[in-house]
Amino acid sequence: MNESNKNISLIGNLTLFFGVFLLFTDVFFLIMGIIYDMPVIRYVIYVKLVINTTNIFLILKKRYLISTMIIYTVILGFMITGVVCMGIKPAFQLYAVGMLPCISYFGYLHKRMLKTELTFMPLIAVHVACYIAVYVYARFHEPIYEVPQSAIDIHIIFNSVATFSIVIMFVYLFHNIAISSEEKLERMALRDNLTGLYNRHYLLSVLDLMQTESSESTENEWSTENTEGRWIALLDIDDFKKVNDTYGHNCGDYILHEIAILAQKTCKGCIVCRWGGEEFIILSTQKNSGTEILETLRKKIADEKFRFGGCEMRITVTVGVSLYDENQTNDIWISKADEKLYFGKSNGKNQVVV
Ligand code: GH3
Ligand code: MG
Ligand code: MG
Repeated sequence: MNESNKNISLIGNLTLFFGVFLLFTDVFFLIMGIIYDMPVIRYVIYVKLVINTTNIFLILKKRYLISTMIIYTVILGFMITGVVCMGIKPAFQLYAVGMLPCISYFGYLHKRMLKTELTFMPLIAVHVACYIAVYVYARFHEPIYEVPQSAIDIHIIFNSVATFSIVIMFVYLFHNIAISSEEKLERMALRDNLTGLYNRHYLLSVLDLMQTESSESTENEWSTENTEGRWIALLDIDDFKKVNDTYGHNCGDYILHEIAILAQKTCKGCIVCRWGGEEFIILSTQKNSGTEILETLRKKIADEKFRFGGCEMRITVTVGVSLYDENQTNDIWISKADEKLYFGKSNGKNQVVV
């Protein structure tokens, strides 16, 4: 599932959970309305039950924006009803605080579904005004119902737990959306879409970092015990144009993908990246035998029977390797590997040139 679908399914699950949660609170308040004989609460709950049940259908039809608006309005409305009926002691006003993240969620859905920005200020102003208004109302009016302390206690507990749950749900949702969006951005910025390998941009930033770190003699995750053990290899698929011309571009894409997998599996402790087109760069991050690893990879590719669309084909690669020299820039390091590659291409291909 891609990140966008993940977010949508998270939104769907959360909104549904919210809808069912509202029905559950309705049942609770209805029971309280019956036990403590509060007809106003009972009548409001009957209306709420109709609205909230209809809302479940909206959620199932994926109308998340309208559904969230309904949930928001109903909870804010019920907060006012609660304070008017029972005063501020049962803590209905907590819902006003708990529903603040709902405004942000509503703005998020608005942007996603309608692709337009929501003007938050009027909504927040109405929200805060409702919160202040219920306090002012309760200050000058007695509650409609005088209920025993036990009823107040039960309501305080229920309203607190419900508010905490609402806030936790939003924190969970925003956290997940932030993480998955960051991961998506990182993947788009640093990975090649076709092969899933790191891209040129990533490799260049690693090389820059390596150079900085080694000039400052500090250790990092790419440090080798001896910088002279480092090597860089430029791998180019032989006669790849012919593959495209003979079997089609999709087959060419398939070969690129398969070679990327083989390179990653074989070159353990190395960074494998797609340098561009049908060229890959392999950078050793540990002291190891470059020739051995790259010769193994070359053989594996040459021995592999690539199958695509009922056709079977053999592919070879040529690799140019260049060892690290602290007196050279990264550009020169790569261009030396390129010269070796060129030498291999001019001398029969399908070989590793060190
Ligand atoms: P050589 O052995 O000298 O490397 O020959 P070659 O045919 O591999 O080299 P050339 O540079 O002439 O051709 C590279 C081809 O790679 C040309 C281009 O169409 C193809 N290519 C580059 N990127 C992609 C890609 O993403 N997908 C596919 N299918 N082909 C690509
Ligand atoms: Mg090439
Ligand atoms: Mg080529």
